[in-house]
Amino acid sequence: MSANELNYYYLDTMGIQRWVTAKPKADPATQAAWLLLEKTVASCTACDLHQGRTQTVFGVGNKQADLIIVGEAPGYYEDQQGEPFVGRGGQLLDRMLKSIGLDRQQVYIANVLKCRPPKNRDPLPREVEKCTQHLDQQLALLQPKLILAVGRYAAHYLLQCNTPLSRLRGRLHHYGQQQIPLIVSYHPAYLLRNPIDKRKAYSDLLHVSATLQ
Ligand code: URA
Repeated sequence: MSANELNYYYLDTMGIQRWVTAKPKADPATQAAWLLLEKTVASCTACDLHQGRTQTVFGVGNKQADLIIVGEAPGYYEDQQGEPFVGRGGQLLDRMLKSIGLDRQQVYIANVLKCRPPKNRDPLPREVEKCTQHLDQQLALLQPKLILAVGRYAAHYLLQCNTPLSRLRGRLHHYGQQQIPLIVSYHPAYLLRNPIDKRKAYSDLLHVSATLQ
């Protein structure tokens, strides 16, 4: 545990609110760009997934966050509630964040796809192609210090590659023209099925924590 994590542990145990240095609040033009993007996503019909959705799942969290987590696509509970990672995988994600002294309110969470694929099937290439302009715009507005891509769909899209996840873990990558630092780890749903790899996921999280310092 780093000195910072230990500090957070003591503060949380004692019930003392953490003080986090905030980035300056978004200017009116950025706020307007967020509103427009949210509206665009909510009414998107660019692929067939809109036909089966209860609602779009835009993204959630702190728009001033240093860390953005990118997952794959909404599942049943996310589709019902309109928020990413609220099912069992989401509960594990919360615990993973907690292990490095972070909580959901301090980060921003989004997915590659904004609509639930039927029966939670894998995203299709044409869905990824149509939908990811929204994620790109979110990232351009967020300008995070670091992206954590969980699972191969997020990693492959953001890094524009097809390299197996096991070979993408354990090093620092960069996303897009702005070369935003990016770390790859396992998807929480995979970790629920393969708990043996939680140890490796924890080492990825320590990498995240060290990169954010
Ligand atoms: N899996 C994801 O990748 N994203 C969610 O929001 C939920 C489950």
